Amino acid sequence: MTKILLVEDETSIRKFIKINLEREGFEVYEAGSGEEGIDIAHREKPDIVLLDIMLPGIDGFEVCNRLRESFPNLGIIMLTAKAEDYDKIMGLQSGTDDYLTKPFNPTELTLRIKSLERRLERHSDKQRGKRYLESGAFRIDVYGHKFFKNDEEIELTPTEHEIVKLFMSNVNRALNRDEILNAVWGEEFLGDSKIVDVNIRRLRAKIEEDAAHPKYIETVWGVGYRWKPSE
Ligand code: CA
Repeated sequence: MTKILLVEDETSIRKFIKINLEREGFEVYEAGSGEEGIDIAHREKPDIVLLDIMLPGIDGFEVCNRLRESFPNLGIIMLTAKAEDYDKIMGLQSGTDDYLTKPFNPTELTLRIKSLERRLERHSDKQRGKRYLESGAFRIDVYGHKFFKNDEEIELTPTEHEIVKLFMSNVNRALNRDEILNAVWGEEFLGDSKIVDVNIRRLRAKIEEDAAHPKYIETVWGVGYRWKPSE
């Protein structure tokens, strides 16, 4: 059973989300502050954290950073009251897998969780496919969830890991946004395909020498992106 930790300081919202998620068969842990959330995460080892941004004490961004340090394979969905937080949430410093703007309907939340669940499952699937994929200076350890450039490890979120795996399985092939969305987020994902672009932007910042002039993840105008092996 997927364990979900819900970090939200507004009791009424928290109770409402909890009831809905339990009805869907999830095991739900509640925290009213970031500090409490981090404690519970260490104790209960959730699979997915739903994280409000505006919290008393440390805010959701800080909680996200601390959780990512301890649990690199955790799924994190940010809950925000403001749509303008988008860039910050999906920004380079953030290890977020997805986000939802409040108020959202419970069905939408469930779909997002299930989409993330499938990504996490594929991420941890040790039965299928090759253990290592190599392309130029890059190597990915699919089982170990590790990614290397010139033998130096680069830390990726589970979502970024899935994107790189997809690229490295399709070297030199232009992939359109929908193909990437379907392969990584799942066909049922209802969010904006802009999420592909923000993840690519984040990946480029991590792996390119010059993210403004990308060599490895090439933009194919009108189509999407292509992985080019480095020399
Ligand atoms: Ca709040």
